[in-house]
Amino acid sequence: MNVNDTEVIFSILADAGYARTEEMDQADLVMANTCSIRDNAEQRIWGRLEVFNQLRKKNPALLVGIVGCMAERLKDKLLDTHKVDLVAGPDAYRSLPRMLEAIGPDSPQIDVLLSREETYADITPVRTDKNGISAFISIMRGCNNVCSYCVVPYTRGAERSRDAHSIVREACDVYQRGYKEVTLLGQNVDSYLWKSGTETVDFAGLLERVAEIAPDLRVRFATSHPKDISDEVIFTMAAHPNICKHIHLPVQSGSSRMLEKMRRKYDRAWYLERVAKIRSVMPECGLTTDVIAGFCSETLEDHTDTLSLMEEVGFDWAFMFAYSERPGTLAQRNYPDDVPSAEKNRRLNEIITLQNRKSLERYRAQIGKTLEVLVEGPSKRNPEQLCGRASNNMMCVFPALDRKAGSYVCVKVVDATSATLICE
Ligand code: SAH
Ligand code: SF4
Repeated sequence: MNVNDTEVIFSILADAGYARTEEMDQADLVMANTCSIRDNAEQRIWGRLEVFNQLRKKNPALLVGIVGCMAERLKDKLLDTHKVDLVAGPDAYRSLPRMLEAIGPDSPQIDVLLSREETYADITPVRTDKNGISAFISIMRGCNNVCSYCVVPYTRGAERSRDAHSIVREACDVYQRGYKEVTLLGQNVDSYLWKSGTETVDFAGLLERVAEIAPDLRVRFATSHPKDISDEVIFTMAAHPNICKHIHLPVQSGSSRMLEKMRRKYDRAWYLERVAKIRSVMPECGLTTDVIAGFCSETLEDHTDTLSLMEEVGFDWAFMFAYSERPGTLAQRNYPDDVPSAEKNRRLNEIITLQNRKSLERYRAQIGKTLEVLVEGPSKRNPEQLCGRASNNMMCVFPALDRKAGSYVCVKVVDATSATLICE
């Protein structure tokens, strides 16, 4: 999501006459696009600011800006203690050229107002991907859920769905420029809903419209919410071969008590039913997840519920985190962060060990299968090999022969690690 926001910023700045440099010490302006989701994401930015300040010693005219969620959350500290020249929240990017013009020696610029409407629908992002094959398209901004641990609703504001026609136009445009895959992005894509006059488009409808652009344009999406993913979305995926068979379905915890406290609005049984439905309609569908270890008051029994759910579902892979208390969230205001950090990390390690075993099992289960892969480019480890993803999102490596990036190839899986399928 932040990569896509950066692409929107590049586009706005390019229209205002700015050009991008890959060499930081040649820049007249450096900006960091920031994330507040966990404390360690924020800690990294304080370190970056030190680097920018070193650059400023060499080039006193250098302007330094912080954009994104941290700008929203920590504007005062950024301006007062860290002396940045510009602070712009996620809904303020259109104002960047005006703000940059207005910066003076004692007048830093700040705009962290959140909007109920801004979706940057009419802005064509400047793609920052290197391969020209896979593009991110933002379909909505903000979030209307109030998961008790999460800072997103505070830093990115209320949920807004983007004009469906502008999404389809952007997908057509990237396809015409040679891209072969689009990933539709939102915090909760299943609650996408756009209305105009008599026209109403929900997520299943949007998926269908994008899938119908061209049979060789792959469609992916993230993130799905277990409480909102509908049968209609599942059936729409199944009906279109070019909608990739992969769902990122963050579970967060396997304990219904924790899920209630997290305000996820589903319980363990509901989650397992959604997984069963997905697998009954699309047996080959890849499933990945997010898990939080050591949320407030989590007992060993709750933790064991998470392990047993992961064992039962068998995710292909997962993002796994220790709970990080975020200022201003419901959890921070109402519940003590009472699992000691050593214990959180112990539980997290148990979760990671289990997931590594499951990933290996899931990847090895592909051995012998033939999969269609979209070639992305040379494999990082061995330039004589190519790499690309199968529909289920598993990364495949295979001999290059004369295949080109951006083409589709059928490969046979001959071996597997817990993160890569080795293919012929
Ligand atoms: N909108 C998506 C995910 C958004 S954030 C969803 O609802 O699933 C990405 C992931 O970061 C979350 O799924 C969660 O696992 C993790 N996360 C969010 N807040 C966190 C916190 N305070 N501590 C640890 N992990 C957190
Ligand atoms: Fe955060 Fe929950 Fe919204 Fe995801 S759905 S962004 S976890 S509040």
